[in-house]
Amino acid sequence: MIQKQKGTKDIFFEEMEIWEEIEKNIKEICNTYNIKQIRTPIFEATELFARGVGNETDVVSKEMYTFLDKGGRSITLRPELTAGVVRAYIENGFSSRTSPVKLWYTGSMYRYEKMQKGRYREFSQFGVEMFGSSSVLTDVEVISIACKLFEKLGVLDKLTLKINSIGCKECRAKYVKALKEYLADKIDGMCEDCKIRYNKNPMRIIDCKQEKCQDVKNGLPTILDYLCDDCKKYFESLKFMLDNLNIKYEIDSSIVRGLDYYNKTVFEFISEDLNLAVGGGGRYDGLVETLGGTSTPAVGFGLGMDRIVLLLQEYKKQETQKPDIYLLTTTNEQFIYATTMLANELRNSGKIVETNISDRSFNAQLKYANKIGAKYLIVIGDEELKSKKVQLKNMDTGKVIQIDLNVKEILNNI
Ligand SMILES: [Zn+2]
Ligand SMILES: [Zn+2]
Repeated sequence: MIQKQKGTKDIFFEEMEIWEEIEKNIKEICNTYNIKQIRTPIFEATELFARGVGNETDVVSKEMYTFLDKGGRSITLRPELTAGVVRAYIENGFSSRTSPVKLWYTGSMYRYEKMQKGRYREFSQFGVEMFGSSSVLTDVEVISIACKLFEKLGVLDKLTLKINSIGCKECRAKYVKALKEYLADKIDGMCEDCKIRYNKNPMRIIDCKQEKCQDVKNGLPTILDYLCDDCKKYFESLKFMLDNLNIKYEIDSSIVRGLDYYNKTVFEFISEDLNLAVGGGGRYDGLVETLGGTSTPAVGFGLGMDRIVLLLQEYKKQETQKPDIYLLTTTNEQFIYATTMLANELRNSGKIVETNISDRSFNAQLKYANKIGAKYLIVIGDEELKSKKVQLKNMDTGKVIQIDLNVKEILNNI
């Protein structure tokens, strides 16, 4: 038997309804913030991620699905979506539009990763990117959109918003120097990855999850002590605005994000209960220029949809939708009447309707209606068709009432 690939999954029934609920809320929320949807290709030139995400990041150096196509091009299945959105922004001349340009997306991404809870090799993200504003108010709006989604889904209070500033090039240079000085006599005892990071990108050491690096990490200098005046002021405004908009947060200077393109504001949403980072984002003022566009400030986030699904499964335990009504018929004539006169219209008004499409016997249909949890049942026999009166049975209580045989009467009573 052929099985699904490691790191992929099939989604159906109950879980699919959770996905649909999340997607519905995303659309509604983005619409109310006047953010427009964008879809970009699933594969892009490998160079886009090498340049955009950073060659030294784990994502690019270890986790990408990269291959040569039949034309000899180096192709990569997108491991994240910001780089692709920025490419589209530049290529389609969006910089000449009224700013800020506000975009949202959902879609599948691919990383060759170790499997963990909520972590797949094919995974899905919802993200928002805003281009053309360097104001901290845009950072605040972006954060508030993510909060709004969690609030609507009923899990905001289950999450911790952690914020940090990783400053600009100048503050980062000072910090990296201090970091290297601090680590100089400790790096030999750290993991192999950190030894490489020490020379190539020391801030990545803050992210290290290896057991042997944790002690050293606890004493690290914090970036917040090295911010320049401008970055310090920016971070203060961010906190001031979040406070005043009643958005709860914690400051965590260990949040540096795994990707190279961020500056100033970075943030993550963490589920402490599930020990799961649900997503995060930050400001990336240099990325548009890095990828060949004109210098454009930008800020955004990406949230793991698979992880939001896990949250909802954990906290909401929602029941899958049940049919509203079962229309019981035993002859073709009855079935035709039930379909054309009742089911079609009931479905048009949003009701979930099941009919006898498996050609079951009367008793088998009663059993079936019970099994699928139908809320109401109507028997449409020859007698009922003649008298235009039917019995509407409430399947939960067993109560039966007599009503006229028409859609309006049925809708009024279920
Ligand atoms: Zn700075
Ligand atoms: Zn390490």
